[in-house]
Amino acid sequence: MDSLHISNSLTRQKEKFEPLNPPFVGMYVCGPTVYSNVHLGNVRTFLTFDIVYRYLQHLGYKVRYVRNITDVGHLTGDTDDGEDKIGKKARLENLEPMEVVQKYTNDFHDVMDVFNILRPSIEPTATGHIVEQIEAIQKIIDNGYAYEVNGSVYFSVRTFSDDHPYGELSGRKIDELMNNTRDLDGQSEKRDPLDFALWKAADASHLMQWPSPWGRGFPGWHLECSVMSTKYLGEKFDIHGGGMDLKFPHHECEIAQNVGVTGCDCPVNYWMHGNMLTVNGRKMAKSEGNGFTPDELITGNHKLLDKGYSAMTVRFFMLMGHYASTLDFSNEALQAAEKGLSKLEKAVDTLAKLTPSSGEASFDAKEFGAKCAAAMNDDFNTPILIATLFEGVKIINGAAAGLVALTAEDIASLQDTFHAYLREVLGIQAEKNIGEGGGNEGETGALLDLIVDIRTQAKANKEWGTADKIRDVLAAHGITIQDGKDGSSWTRG
Ligand code: AMP
Ligand code: ZN
Repeated sequence: MDSLHISNSLTRQKEKFEPLNPPFVGMYVCGPTVYSNVHLGNVRTFLTFDIVYRYLQHLGYKVRYVRNITDVGHLTGDTDDGEDKIGKKARLENLEPMEVVQKYTNDFHDVMDVFNILRPSIEPTATGHIVEQIEAIQKIIDNGYAYEVNGSVYFSVRTFSDDHPYGELSGRKIDELMNNTRDLDGQSEKRDPLDFALWKAADASHLMQWPSPWGRGFPGWHLECSVMSTKYLGEKFDIHGGGMDLKFPHHECEIAQNVGVTGCDCPVNYWMHGNMLTVNGRKMAKSEGNGFTPDELITGNHKLLDKGYSAMTVRFFMLMGHYASTLDFSNEALQAAEKGLSKLEKAVDTLAKLTPSSGEASFDAKEFGAKCAAAMNDDFNTPILIATLFEGVKIINGAAAGLVALTAEDIASLQDTFHAYLREVLGIQAEKNIGEGGGNEGETGALLDLIVDIRTQAKANKEWGTADKIRDVLAAHGITIQDGKDGSSWTRG
């Protein structure tokens, strides 16, 4: 398999990736709803698409990556019921809704930076696209797929499904959906329980509202993504991504809206969904109370954590699973990732110091690079890529021990491959690591390890003054010492 293949959630097949307009690629990923701190589950989904973005660029594509910020319209019921999530937070904390939005957008950006997740090309907001959303609603009404009731506008799924397929992405059939849906309670304005809101009328107490042809109100949650994806990527574009939990109803509704506006039956060529991060088999979610923030993870300050882990260890841990499979959080898995990454980083250090062998080369550097590419070409298979890099580690350590002969070209080629795949494609940064009780920064790391050992000894001797002095001086240089059950380690920042 020498070209990139992607598992398309729509066709449920692994397909050869063929962009609509090479070398340009348009990719849209549903971003966060900014009403609370990001948890590690969210990080996994954004990391999945960071890898897609990085690898497409590695292949030479010019990617326009659009990832939105949901800052209005996502209701607490996740359907058309309940209070606006941001409005509720603003009410409870006595803040302006835009203060809530700014606070959690900043948090989101900080977290993405810590995990070395690249910023998108465009990061549009729902509130910045109210005019476009109103225009889209009007077109859907004009095309006969939406109706207005008391200042709200609903999408008519049944009318739409008479003309176009509905439910293909999530494999749902209209009649089954009908059987599984609650009957309308008589209070509802909807003509059919499958219908969903494009625009909701707002009363005076509703914090975020705008004028529209149907009166004051706010857009439904699904609409923003239809509008912003097509505005920046066109009526038909290459890749649309998000977490698995968004497939239905969010993405199904998105498709219906896009088709409802343009009539073009297949707005997206490749739908991709990242699977969930779970804790003891249950989805990590704010509502489950099992979600820890990246900050808690790094400091180890959470009941589920035995100790703190560096952001790069966590990144590596997540990439050790394939994006399409669920990934269960555990301290053991994180510790294994920490050890594995430390091994890889040590091998990169060793590689930098290797001297070429004069003997016959016993390693095929070209084949090694091709194997790394093949792993990524097979639906971004990061676990296989990591396993391949470990094969490289064996070669490097073998060469250092004089058991494998490497020419100067082999060494240069290995360095290029490690740089391309470990640093650029997997996005692992050396300087952000803490290794096993220490770091991976060559001599500086070894010295810091030594200082931490001396402090541990001082603590054992109850020389608290010395122990505190070491901690404070290192802190003044931006190095934090963490004391855990298994000893102390240092990290930058
Ligand atoms: P939200 O801010 O809740 O809309 O979520 C932002 C993104 O995180 C969405 O793409 C979700 O699918 C994704 N997400 C939420 N929980 C998890 C989880 N436990 N594992 C992976 N992704 C998740
Ligand atoms: Zn979306």
